[in-house]
Amino acid sequence: MAVPTNRRRSALLAAGALIVASGGAVAAVSSSTASAATAGCAVNYSVSQWDTGFTTQVTITNTGPALTTWTLGWSFSGNQKVTQGWNATVSQTGAAVTAASLSYNGAVASGGTATFGFNGSYSGTNTSPTSFTLNGVTCGGGGTGTTPPTTPPTTPPTTPPTTPPTNPPDGSRVDNPYAGAKGYVNPEWSAKAAADGGQKIANQSTAVWLDRIAAIDGVNGGMGLRDHLDEAVQQAGGQPLTIELVIYDLPGRDCAALASNGELGATEIGRYETEYIDPIAAIMSDPKYASLRIVNIIEPDSLPNLTTNAGGTAGSTDACATMKANGNYEKGVGYALNKLGAIGNVYNYIDAAHHAWLGWDSNLAPAAQEFLKAATTSGATVNDVTGFIVNTANYSATTEPNFKVTDNVNGTTVRQSKWVDWNNYVDETSYAQALRTLLVQDGFNSNIGMLIDTSRNGWGGSARPTAPGATTSVDTYVDGGRIDRRIHAGNWCNQSGAGLGARPTASPAAGLDAYVWVKPPGESDGSSTAIPNDQGKGFDRMCDPTYTGNGRNGNNLTGALPNSPLAGDWFSAQFHQLVANAYPPLS
Ligand code: BGC
Repeated sequence: MAVPTNRRRSALLAAGALIVASGGAVAAVSSSTASAATAGCAVNYSVSQWDTGFTTQVTITNTGPALTTWTLGWSFSGNQKVTQGWNATVSQTGAAVTAASLSYNGAVASGGTATFGFNGSYSGTNTSPTSFTLNGVTCGGGGTGTTPPTTPPTTPPTTPPTTPPTNPPDGSRVDNPYAGAKGYVNPEWSAKAAADGGQKIANQSTAVWLDRIAAIDGVNGGMGLRDHLDEAVQQAGGQPLTIELVIYDLPGRDCAALASNGELGATEIGRYETEYIDPIAAIMSDPKYASLRIVNIIEPDSLPNLTTNAGGTAGSTDACATMKANGNYEKGVGYALNKLGAIGNVYNYIDAAHHAWLGWDSNLAPAAQEFLKAATTSGATVNDVTGFIVNTANYSATTEPNFKVTDNVNGTTVRQSKWVDWNNYVDETSYAQALRTLLVQDGFNSNIGMLIDTSRNGWGGSARPTAPGATTSVDTYVDGGRIDRRIHAGNWCNQSGAGLGARPTASPAAGLDAYVWVKPPGESDGSSTAIPNDQGKGFDRMCDPTYTGNGRNGNNLTGALPNSPLAGDWFSAQFHQLVANAYPPLS
């Protein structure tokens, strides 16, 4: 997995902007309703509030001609902050808020209504807005305000508000499937973690990798897709629950490396569609799973490999050139997006590598085009894409606390340091946010969200730097301060010194839907020596600690732990190190 090719070049990307954070919720103490009306729109804004927060239900009545999409705007008069929305993309800049319709509720007939809601925080007084705009036109004429709250605060209800609603109507998607949902705990991974010193993390949610056709029914008596979904329904207990499946079986898989080569040959796109994706889609669309929020992580490394490793660069391989020429990665990804995206409770996130792979502008712009191409192939559209995931099974830090890409040392930019190597990003958060902005510019929906795989990017333990490095040179400054302690940022296999990263978290930062644990900690990235197997997996010397590297890691040592088993197999020594070096530390 995860094979970068370093290309440089500059030009800045605007950092991503967005909204909406995690859900607080709580006990209601009062409620009120305000409304506004005009020729074009009437708005009912109904609030339940407690001392520091509130839940609002907004109903727009369209008194003008039929709408295909709508955006409602208003300004808060106090310090209210939207924390979480549903049935609309709710964004806030200063006091100004907009709520934009989603694919399933933009159409409103003349005289019809649309409803959405949000949670917010405030201090002092929570005055309801009385002036609204609908698609830029003021409701209520001139914004002079309308009816003041019609209902005075009432007696505190005895039960807290149910926020947000458990699921939207009939197979329609929520904006962020992680918001307000718990995560599926894979009992098989959990048992291994608990039995190997990982009791403190055994209840964390990790992804289930469907890494071969046989995994759909279960390998060696293990759980198959239906078993996991049945178990997920149990764990949900009627509440929202997110379960992550990794769709990972493209023809000619892992074309720039060998450790995760797969079972399907470069031309076997037909088998991928009929023996792999179709059966998965058939199971996921079973109505008994309709209440689950099924997240699919689509084909790690494939489209990034087409972007940087398919010809014309030092890291290119013949296998990637073949996959680019035959189009089977794009066809396969498009087929998966289209088939799985047709299921109302399925959320597709496309893999977008990590900052030290695509973070040079000369890589990022072509990557975004590659994603768009695949997402509009084989019947797929951008509406089949909920978002993108970065750092899948990699080790790049979520944020580097001790230096930023804009820093300089005695007038020399840190971009010139050996470690940064002219990259435009130094961590995954800045990379994900900027990529998100670019993807929206290029044609993906404006409400896409990003995921970061934080399963192994904590870099804690006693060797973690706590301050910037010495300002002798850009290299001392960066190397002394960086928490990512790899020998080279292109190293990807069983990295020595790594620790568990942030635990799975919904809405951790602007533009991010969640931190997730997609690579299950403890599962190897590849074997350190050749191991015969029937899965098509090869021996990649990037997993051999004695190998001195190649063009994709600047001809450095690999930093891999010794004595590792096949990709996906349990690697106890690595697991122990991940637990010991967890950051935040385990408590
Ligand atoms: C392997 C898969 C495995 C996954 C999760 C990949 O690198 O190729 O077989 O399921 O990692 O551990």
